[in-house]
Amino acid sequence: MSLIVLKFGGTSVGSIKKINYVAKIIKKHHHKKNKLIVVSSAMSGVTNDLIKKSKQISKNFDKFEYDVLLSSGEQIACALLSGALLKIGLKSRSWLSWQIPIITKGDHKSSRIISINKKEILKYVNSGGIPIITGFQGISNNRRITTLGRGGSDATAISIAKFFSADDCFIYTDVSGVYTTDPKLNSKAKKIKKISYEEMLEMASLGAKIMQPISLQDAMINDIDINVRSTFINSNGTKISNNQQLFNKNPITGIAFTKNEAKITLIGVMDRPGTAASIFKPLADNQINVDMVVQTSSPDGGQTDITFTIIKDDIKNCIRILKENKKISYKKIIHDDKVSKVSIVGAGMIATPGVTYRMFKALAKKKINITVISTSEIKISVLINQKNIKKAIRVLHKEFDLD
Ligand code: ASP
Ligand code: MG
Repeated sequence: MSLIVLKFGGTSVGSIKKINYVAKIIKKHHHKKNKLIVVSSAMSGVTNDLIKKSKQISKNFDKFEYDVLLSSGEQIACALLSGALLKIGLKSRSWLSWQIPIITKGDHKSSRIISINKKEILKYVNSGGIPIITGFQGISNNRRITTLGRGGSDATAISIAKFFSADDCFIYTDVSGVYTTDPKLNSKAKKIKKISYEEMLEMASLGAKIMQPISLQDAMINDIDINVRSTFINSNGTKISNNQQLFNKNPITGIAFTKNEAKITLIGVMDRPGTAASIFKPLADNQINVDMVVQTSSPDGGQTDITFTIIKDDIKNCIRILKENKKISYKKIIHDDKVSKVSIVGAGMIATPGVTYRMFKALAKKKINITVISTSEIKISVLINQKNIKKAIRVLHKEFDLD
């Protein structure tokens, strides 16, 4: 008999009709003689609505009360889901995190789970019951309610899979899995059957918002396989696990992209130790996240240009900070907010030479100019003009046999 964790996201439990539907999915898993632990998120929109309400009280709403407030959405969903299971004749009850308890540490609004008391839950599961546990919330050592960051019910599911040594973990959501690229931008996009955590992390940070990245990392470290699938379409989704892709003949697993980047170039900065640090320190101090960076080399050790990318929303702030920075000198600042980052991701590229060349050649054939390049072991990203994004995705998707 297997122990299985099932997690349902906000859209999966977004209405009473959907909750009744989810109850049927749970019943199916139960019929297979599995022991189940269910984690639910709040009904879609509820958490956002609670945040709005807190802001109506104060922009600096107390963080302890913020967590009590936000965690309430999950309580509603879990009670409704448990009620739906009881109605169809299954044994079920809801559990709030403090009742278990699920102990967290760290800051309010973004706590991390450090331990889960298994005793009560196991007893209940072994008696044939289906516990419905609130995702996203925990309790600190000071016995205050905490939350795990937006999308944090994923973290609850992964931690439960970890502490209970579950045989399987299903993440039910509103997409049917991870795709080779966004189907909205390329109709040839295909569902990926298996993907490694590393690839998924690269895809996630690039816009494929399937799971909370920190939960993915947690699953990776603890070697927990995850099945992502759709609540409403009955098909096998995507399996996320360790290094599956290395056994795949295709060097590239997927193509990710962003649309909200901006590029800034500082022309004529001094090429000497400390320059880059002086440029980027005040940006970091102001929470401006820098992504890609390139510096041209100066043959004479004199002056150089530095180009980097940031989120578009930060552009005004960033330029102001650069202009106020007395520690640096430069000739000119140029900026461009009509850029996009396109990345090819694949663990298979580690063992395949020539991937970089194929990418550049394919883009060149379509006359797409590359302005910045950055790479990691399993990813190559290029910055291009936003107007070329669709074309770039199409040509790369084809080039790497993903069509
Ligand atoms: N309800 C929380 C949120 O909206 C947690 C979650 O959905 O995973 O962020
Ligand atoms: Mg959610």
